[in-house]
Amino acid sequence: MPRSQISRKLVKLTRQLQMLQQSPPLARGAPSGTEASLQRKAGILPSLEDLLFYTIAEGQEKIPAHKFTTALKSTGLRTGDPRLKECMEMLKVTLKTTSDGALDRHLFKKCVQSNIVLLTQAFRKKFVIPDFQSFCGHIDDLYENAKNLSGGQVADYIPQLARFSPDLWSVALCTVDGQRHTVGDTKVPFCLQSCVKPLKYAIAVHDHGTEYVHRFIGKEPSGLRFNKLFLNEDDKPHNPMVNAGAIVCTSLIKVMNFMNKLAGNEYVGFSNATFQSERESGDRNFAIGYYLKEKKCFPEGTDMTSILDFYFQLCSIEVTCESASVMAATLANGGFCPITGERVLSPEAVRNTLSLMHSCGMYDFSGQFAFHVGLPAKSGVAGGILLVVPNVMGIMCWSPPLDKLGNSVRGIQFCTDLVSLFNFHNYDNLRHFAKKHDPRREGGDQRVKSVINLLFAAYTGDVSALRRFALSSMDMEQRDYDSRTALHVAAAEGHAEVVRFLLEACKVNPVPKDRWGNTPMDEAVHFGHHDVVTILKDYHNQYSPQDTAVEKQSAEKNLDGML
Ligand code: GLU
Repeated sequence: MPRSQISRKLVKLTRQLQMLQQSPPLARGAPSGTEASLQRKAGILPSLEDLLFYTIAEGQEKIPAHKFTTALKSTGLRTGDPRLKECMEMLKVTLKTTSDGALDRHLFKKCVQSNIVLLTQAFRKKFVIPDFQSFCGHIDDLYENAKNLSGGQVADYIPQLARFSPDLWSVALCTVDGQRHTVGDTKVPFCLQSCVKPLKYAIAVHDHGTEYVHRFIGKEPSGLRFNKLFLNEDDKPHNPMVNAGAIVCTSLIKVMNFMNKLAGNEYVGFSNATFQSERESGDRNFAIGYYLKEKKCFPEGTDMTSILDFYFQLCSIEVTCESASVMAATLANGGFCPITGERVLSPEAVRNTLSLMHSCGMYDFSGQFAFHVGLPAKSGVAGGILLVVPNVMGIMCWSPPLDKLGNSVRGIQFCTDLVSLFNFHNYDNLRHFAKKHDPRREGGDQRVKSVINLLFAAYTGDVSALRRFALSSMDMEQRDYDSRTALHVAAAEGHAEVVRFLLEACKVNPVPKDRWGNTPMDEAVHFGHHDVVTILKDYHNQYSPQDTAVEKQSAEKNLDGML
């Protein structure tokens, strides 16, 4: 390919990349129909509905409705997802007009058209966990593993907690794309208790900003039990995850419909009995309240006892494992509720909250949890653990028996196992680290970007950039849409050093064929780069194809030394 053609191609690729970067991300959770129909009118997205029909119909003339909903569920979407409301309503109406409960292409299009972008994303495996079924299989295994644990004590300082069976155990998750999975007793209501602390802190920061909130509350782990009567050197509570900090935080928030928004309007209730019991047995919290009052920890004009009431009420907010997983997912999704698309919290509030959950969320186990699990989490005395995998998913684990430090025994086991299996620990993605399983989708734009960077470095002869890519375990044999590799481009441009590096250090395939059937050797000959021709010939003579394959296997190991 002539040089000018290559550079035109690179310009084109770069433009594509820019377009990818500029195009608004398909808002995770945002209603999708309008944008799609606009684009269709402009002729950019011709007949996504047809494509979807053929994908699901698998060669049949009609799609039975149950086949559609089963296929939908396998992507992780629920038929009750608020983002699919129009589609599901239309499906119901349309089915009444059919005799066999099946949809031909025309009826199918009618049903899916208003939610076509979300549906296409789902079926093209564009969600954050593309292989959702197999991921859920792993989650179920982890659930079963923790189910066998029998240790721990159910909290019994109030009857509303003591009544729970120690056998209750559930896990629910919601990804940032609104994929849902639940296992166990996921519909039983329980009180958030201390799991509400990060949420109210997030609301306080959302409403007032970081600076104002932290005039009253610190950011440091206390090193003391959560309900200790103790303040830091500035006479402020240590952080908003311990009782003193949470009580002060309560005095900063006013709005309650936040909880509903956080949960995407799924179950949020209130246990008045728990509230009364908490108040009656809350001597320690009253002691903390008076101490805070004495030390002027509240904003001016605060009525301490009514704030304590509010604090007990917030502890008594009921959720189910399912609805709380949506709350956690809203945090994982930077403050947007994945299933309604609504922005509930500011990015600042979410970032602060995740930081403090990470360092202070798990009582006196916080340091160890941050060490072993490496994810922000908050547990509560009812046995809940609200766990966030930032940018991926929110999880709620619930099981009442608690260990000596007050964390759910099964919940801790689940979180630990989750991170042993998947690379979710904050520091799992370090270079040169033993690779764990990654269920996340490699972003399509990410891949395009990486091919462009690779080919561009080969085009400009930038060996040091190529070294960096190789070191960060980039696939050095990646091909663009014409099946051209970095070696093709470097050979065509006559960059001898790059060719040598790709062959000797990276052990790339020396004879890849592009879509015109050309090899790097053809390119070098065609453009008269004799030095490159010699390198390629020598390399070819030195290594037989089998040798190359064997060498390539050990290349990764040797790469560090050679660079
Ligand atoms: N209601 C409890 C308290 O404030 C909450 C305990 C907890 O979940 O850590 O003491």
